[in-house]
Amino acid sequence: MSKPLNILFLSSEVEPFAKTGGLADVSSALPQAIKELGHEIRIMMPRYRFISERKFKLHDIIRLKEIPIPIGKNSEIGNVKSSFISNLKEKVQVYFLDNANYFGRDGIYQSPVGKKDYKDNDERYIFFCRGVLETLKRLGWQPDIIHCNDWQTGIVPAYIKTLYASDDFFKSIKTVFTVHNMAYQGAFTSESFEKSGLPKSMFHPEGVEAYGKFNFLKTGLHYADAITTVSERYAEEICNSDEYGAGLNGLLAKRKKDLKGILNGIDYEIWNPLTDEYTYRKFDVKSMDAKLDNKKALLKRFNIPYKEGVALIGGISRLVEQKGFDLVLEILDEMMKLNVQFILLGSGEKTVEKKFETMQKKYPHQMGVLFGFDNELAHLIEAGSDLFLMPSRYEPCGLNQMYSMRYGTIPVVRATGGLDDTVEDYAGGGKGTGFKFEKYDAKELLKAIQRAIKVYQQPEEWKKLMRNGMLKDFSWEHSAKKYVNLYKELLR
Ligand code: ADP
Repeated sequence: MSKPLNILFLSSEVEPFAKTGGLADVSSALPQAIKELGHEIRIMMPRYRFISERKFKLHDIIRLKEIPIPIGKNSEIGNVKSSFISNLKEKVQVYFLDNANYFGRDGIYQSPVGKKDYKDNDERYIFFCRGVLETLKRLGWQPDIIHCNDWQTGIVPAYIKTLYASDDFFKSIKTVFTVHNMAYQGAFTSESFEKSGLPKSMFHPEGVEAYGKFNFLKTGLHYADAITTVSERYAEEICNSDEYGAGLNGLLAKRKKDLKGILNGIDYEIWNPLTDEYTYRKFDVKSMDAKLDNKKALLKRFNIPYKEGVALIGGISRLVEQKGFDLVLEILDEMMKLNVQFILLGSGEKTVEKKFETMQKKYPHQMGVLFGFDNELAHLIEAGSDLFLMPSRYEPCGLNQMYSMRYGTIPVVRATGGLDDTVEDYAGGGKGTGFKFEKYDAKELLKAIQRAIKVYQQPEEWKKLMRNGMLKDFSWEHSAKKYVNLYKELLR
């Protein structure tokens, strides 16, 4: 093997420490997969208060205490703690940048009560980005690559190319910026820009500014040496349309040769039906029938009677516009006329939650809902459902459809982004792994569900679909190699 690389991986969410969505899963599994390929990779993230010192055995790094980090004309103090994430094979070191003012809160981006974004998210992530670089210098560990993820880390490449450009320590470092969702951009006022300490000359549309705002995501897209996103289809979509590119498609199209789509994998240790502690009964492709016990356990939990031959549809999602649950609401009455039951675990917009709650009351024996974030239940839903709904308006990659397939749960998805790249539409004759629809339209979704239910009524055919999905390889190794190749290309 050629020389191992040193990589610093930056993320605002890492499983099992902090998670609001798929970013956390990726930020845990991908570094482990890269480490398994023989490279030295370490993670840095903010130390939110709820990350338990005892549970995760966080310890202080004495020589990284009281680091002054400039914020505007002031300076805030950062302390660094350390821990590990580990799978069976590898341990990856995680550094936590701690500052009680910024991260000593109960939420990640917003207060759990009231669900309003914290007003100082600009400062919190300016502190984090600049803090990362100040920490690195003192640590004396020089990465070849800094791999940034999403807007919260988007200004790191800009710092390296400007404020830190004359510093020998940073001179040869290359940056990769991965976009997990174009819709979350971290756009703040020009006063925020002043807090960053970046040169004033950068505040224009050819720099960090987008539509009059200091835009963290745009900054990353502009200054990173390479850009990636989490599926090939989404990489195309965000260059080609204003809707998918969320107003930054012009810039993306310009940087097209530096943009790559690399599909996310899934963590095969966490999402393994044969070892999953959160399920009622373990199973795999050789013991598919055991899945039924999970279905019964799941229904029982929601007080819904089990009925033979009735398909159970599951859903686990952030209930936000992106995820397409407005389509589900539109056809819910029609859907309930089919031979189905439906269980939804979600959290998000209160108005959407209310509508589902009302529908649940209308169909108490057919429908169950739980609003909140519940990881254990998410595993049981994957294990116990027959079908899984993901009617997303757009979906950069999506993880749940892959978890579903691994658990023999057939996904019904809109053909967009990573959903299109990972699900093969049922083509008759036992071929396919799920059911897709093209147009963002409730009737199209209903048709896809109807198609699925028809096949569900043919148990032998259905089993073939389950088998196809369960035997798919969605492990990280393949994608991790693509990232490593990209790192190497940059360093050449
Ligand atoms: P996104 O990152 O856009 O939310 P993904 O499909 O990429 O969508 O990843 C979502 C991840 O978050 C999955 O691991 C899913 O199980 C989890 N998740 C989403 N909502 C909930 C919830 N309410 N409770 C538990 N897990 C959830």
